[in-house]
Amino acid sequence: MEFKDKYDLIVVGAGPGGSMAAKTASEEGLDVLLIEKRQEIGTPVRCAEGVGREELARYISPDERWISCDIDGAKIYAPDGSYVTMSQTGKSGYVLERKVFDRALAQEAVRAGAEVVVKCRASGLLFNQGKVSGIEIMHLGKQHRIKSDIVIGADGIESKVGRWGGIDTSLSVDDIETCAQYLITGIELDGFFTEFYLGNNLAPGGYAWVFPKGERMANVGIGINGGMVGDLRSVDYLNRFVKSKFPDGKILEIVVGGVAICGPIERTVADGLMLVGDAARQSDPLTGGGIINAMKAGVIAGEVAADAIKRGDTSADGLKAYEKRWRSDIGKKIGKMFKAKNVVFELSDSDLNKIAASLQGDNIDGFSSTELLIRIVKKNPTLLKGLLTMI
Ligand SMILES: Cc1cc2nc3c(=O)[nH]c(=O)nc-3n(C[C@H](O)[C@H](O)[C@H](O)COP(=O)(O)OP(=O)(O)OC[C@H]3O[C@@H](n4cnc5c(N)ncnc54)[C@H](O)[C@@H]3O)c2cc1C
Repeated sequence: MEFKDKYDLIVVGAGPGGSMAAKTASEEGLDVLLIEKRQEIGTPVRCAEGVGREELARYISPDERWISCDIDGAKIYAPDGSYVTMSQTGKSGYVLERKVFDRALAQEAVRAGAEVVVKCRASGLLFNQGKVSGIEIMHLGKQHRIKSDIVIGADGIESKVGRWGGIDTSLSVDDIETCAQYLITGIELDGFFTEFYLGNNLAPGGYAWVFPKGERMANVGIGINGGMVGDLRSVDYLNRFVKSKFPDGKILEIVVGGVAICGPIERTVADGLMLVGDAARQSDPLTGGGIINAMKAGVIAGEVAADAIKRGDTSADGLKAYEKRWRSDIGKKIGKMFKAKNVVFELSDSDLNKIAASLQGDNIDGFSSTELLIRIVKKNPTLLKGLLTMI
């Protein structure tokens, strides 16, 4: 692999955010390098792989190669076993096969003209008079210094690019959901619903999930608030849940990982630099979902990069349209979900049971967490008075 001395844009990380940024900027005519530190794009998977169908369709046409399961809706279980169903037949969502999906997105970036290099780790940023002017990389044992007008850090939850560029992306333990998940086979599923289980003993400051991956197979996981990890870790809670729910299931894969639940951070651009997706802490603080937000942010960053280069202003000021655009869309929602998370995860089991009871008999025609929250708040204004501003 011969690297050029300089690209218009270098994107660090070929997850959904990075690939969408690279694809968009290439389509806009930029000369783009997309690098991925792993030897394979898409693996290992650190995700339950659930996405909303309509939102995904805005960015890529559905393809059975990366759709593991069509989902009919979601069921949310209270600690007493009662549940609320949300569904919109044929419209709800998918459980993806991210190993294939992430590669398909990277392929789209290549099709649009981007260069993609795997086993290529960014090890630092280059600066010119305080402005980011490229990156330092390690590729197959060799170090390279490559210049660019703009760098996009799409390097996920463990992002270093932001920190290197002077952007504060630090997370306190309370700002992280620590997760463990098994891909389990040989189990009976009650239809193709994504299932969410709430309860303070089951998953303190979080929830357990069962996301079907076709017949008799599912991603079964648990996320707990990092500040609540004590003697028991998320994997211990998961083992307890799996033992009671799927005692005969066989584990094919184990995933551990973290999700940022901090809400919008103060700054995501610097001179010559933008952060996208988990690197910019753009995941939903209530559900932990981050695929669509990363893709959306990637598209915005790619467009803003192209515009800034055309205008000849890649300073933080020249990139401020990125801040403005993602905050007015994703940012608003994650701000609301941050508030909701702080209220919902403080509820007692008996409050959660009351809320589920208040919705019994309702047919919730939709798949959006915002719609569900609004309905819950309307029915339980006293319990959820902290969220009344949402409705
Ligand atoms: C257990 C778990 C379950 C989840 N379930 C869901 C779900 O069901 N639905 C959902 O929407 N979201 C879910 N998420 C969140 C979702 O996985 C992320 O929000 C999403 O992957 C973010 O995409 P991204 O492109 O920002 O980052 P990532 O997908 O993390 O991609 C970042 C990429 O950058 C690469 N990289 C890192 N550092 C470097 C470097 N120095 N040089 C080069 N490359 C680098 C990494 O190898 C990686 O490939 C879950 C997360 C976890 C942990």
